[in-house]
Amino acid sequence: MTDETTNINNHKARFSNKTAELLHDCDLSLCLTCNACVEACPATGLEGMDPKKFIRMVAEGMDEEAITTPWVWMCSMCEGCISVCPAKADIAGVVGLAREAWPKEKKPRGITGSCDMALKSETCSAMGISEEDFRFVVEETLLDVREEQEGWEELDAPVNRKGAYFFLNQNSREPAMEPDEMVPLWKILHLAGADWTYGTEGWAAENYCMFACDLKSWEHIVRVKAKAVENLGCKVWLNTECAHEMYAFRSGLKKFNIPHNFEVKSIVQYYAQWIREGKLKVNSEWNKGLGIRFTVHDPCQLVRKSFGDPVAEDLRYIVRTVVGENNFIDMTPNRSENYCCGGGGGYLQSGFTEARYKFGAIKFNQIKATGADYCITACHNCHTQIRDLCEHYKGGYHTIHLWTIICLALGCLGENERRYLGPDLAEAGL
Ligand code: SF4
Ligand code: SF4
Repeated sequence: MTDETTNINNHKARFSNKTAELLHDCDLSLCLTCNACVEACPATGLEGMDPKKFIRMVAEGMDEEAITTPWVWMCSMCEGCISVCPAKADIAGVVGLAREAWPKEKKPRGITGSCDMALKSETCSAMGISEEDFRFVVEETLLDVREEQEGWEELDAPVNRKGAYFFLNQNSREPAMEPDEMVPLWKILHLAGADWTYGTEGWAAENYCMFACDLKSWEHIVRVKAKAVENLGCKVWLNTECAHEMYAFRSGLKKFNIPHNFEVKSIVQYYAQWIREGKLKVNSEWNKGLGIRFTVHDPCQLVRKSFGDPVAEDLRYIVRTVVGENNFIDMTPNRSENYCCGGGGGYLQSGFTEARYKFGAIKFNQIKATGADYCITACHNCHTQIRDLCEHYKGGYHTIHLWTIICLALGCLGENERRYLGPDLAEAGL
């Protein structure tokens, strides 16, 4: 027997044991006639596979096929299938086990490369931004705002401030490529009177090791981040608009039994709270007469996989308040039943671009059906994917972060903070 055969057999044995464990309360015989997962899954048909075929393969012991089909990289692990499955089969979980069984060199390089990069330093940045560079970018950007924007001379963006209530993270995309996009977030925190800090360690809001299904590395990154929060004595780990990080950290703490003395929250929950408390004095007056229409996307990792419909209600409360009730149009279906856009699961890094567009067609049609001029996303991966879909399918809508529209409604969105707005809002409120 060759080494490779032994390896495959070892992987198969481990895969079978683990899938059996994962599926022990699912009655897979229910699976024979139901097609609910197939209909709910945007990856249906890619690589000639669908979730029902995949789970049947596993149930029938076709382990080798299950752990070698490239379809596991077509699935975004969005869990849309689980939410409609009468047997509650953890299809995404089994996809994760199959991904785990792939030899590293055969996994999509973009995903493993982002994971490897994050492991190189305590920042956990998948783009390799060092502690010094992060601090430098934050300080320089802050200085520019204080000097150039009247009324913002007191704006702060603290780094490593011990005892701050919130430990804020930041997706690497901003410090690396668009630092001005951090400013609306700082302004919101300032106006809400939030006591917050970044940490030079563990600040990066991404974890592609989770999507690579490299459990050891996923755990390592969660531990580094948890330690960084504890070292600064913060009470709340506050996740910015990045949904996969929300899930990776929150579920990672639980999965790997990592003890911690802080709460884990999404900034979306706080945006809503601060608006309800009157700390963020937003209104939709700016849209009166303009009548610009908005829809909102529910990121799977934030809504379905983390906080459920309550956070989806927070999202809608925020959007309705800032754009005006009559200018908000919901997608169908929505909230926990929303379709995945295809930005998660490592898709943006995997290099399977054509498959990603096909996967995202349902989301694109959902957005177009609303007739909205803008789609708001509270997630970096969703933001990139929904913009890409617009360009690919020539959608004609704009895609923006939640922080952009909140600052617009607060009357404090600076000139350099409008990168994603269309010409209709390029000068609004300046
Ligand atoms: S939804 Fe569940 S029961 Fe129905 S086909 Fe899919 S896995 Fe089987
Ligand atoms: S997790 Fe999402 S993409 Fe994967 S099989 Fe389920 S519905 Fe399809």
